[in-house]
Amino acid sequence: MLGSTAVLDVTALTGHAEPAVRDLYLPRVASGQLTMCNAMTEPYAPGSEPGLTTTRAVQESDGSRTVHGRKWFVTVPPGHLPGEAGRGLRVIAERVRLGRLLRCLRWLGQAERAFTLMRERARSRPASSGRLADLQLVQALVFDALLAIRTIRPLVFEAVALVEAGLDARVETGLAKVAAARMLHQVTDAAIQVHGAAGLGPDTPLPALFRTGRMARLLDGPDELHITAVARRILG
Ligand SMILES: Cc1cc2nc3c(=O)[nH]c(=O)nc-3n(C[C@H](O)[C@H](O)[C@H](O)COP(=O)(O)OP(=O)(O)OC[C@H]3O[C@@H](n4cnc5c(N)ncnc54)[C@H](O)[C@@H]3O)c2cc1C
Repeated sequence: MLGSTAVLDVTALTGHAEPAVRDLYLPRVASGQLTMCNAMTEPYAPGSEPGLTTTRAVQESDGSRTVHGRKWFVTVPPGHLPGEAGRGLRVIAERVRLGRLLRCLRWLGQAERAFTLMRERARSRPASSGRLADLQLVQALVFDALLAIRTIRPLVFEAVALVEAGLDARVETGLAKVAAARMLHQVTDAAIQVHGAAGLGPDTPLPALFRTGRMARLLDGPDELHITAVARRILG
């Protein structure tokens, strides 16, 4: 079984690398010995607009390519360029599209983990008149968190089904990505609220899950990018 990042790397290598390069790296990526990275974002170019990336792979006389960029200065041996020269953004876009959905699935699982912790805390923590679980405002947090998880899950699965069927899932992926990120942010925030200060300490995974929820709204394109892209597709 592969982690979701390795799935992206294996997919990119299988789809775009020269056979010799694929055979060289694939077994090590699949076995977890090698971790690849996708260096798209730059300090002086907006990550939300990959087309504005300034890093370039310039071909040298021996066929190798030297990568010139603000953060990197790397030589790529001949034949190691994934896909056609000048079409790198397409490879990146394909990788990011699949990555967004894999992340959405992970965020659903992480939200469920936070929800379980919230429920356990509400049921076990004493309050002046019984337990936290008996307080209506705590019940509202639990209800809203469950509602968010249950409504976002089919949205994500709909996008996954379209991708699996090889159909255009750009609108559904955009909807799922924004909704799942907001959902994780909301559910982890509610879980921390119900835990009180303990929710910010080292005894639960909630601080890390909350950070993931906040990052989710930025990485692979911020919310705004998906909102405008989906709206443009719908409005024509
Ligand atoms: C945990 C994590 C992992 C990451 N991993 C990688 C990686 O592996 N490889 C990689 O290359 N990058 C990676 N990134 C970077 C990520 O892709 C970028 O942060 C993201 O695309 C946003 O780009 P930026 O940070 O440059 O923000 P900018 O593009 O500068 O945008 C800043 C803000 O401006 C607003 N904005 C931008 N565009 C629009 C728009 N069209 N309409 C309205 N408002 C807009 C939004 O509020 C946005 O948050 C990662 C980021 C995080 C948080």
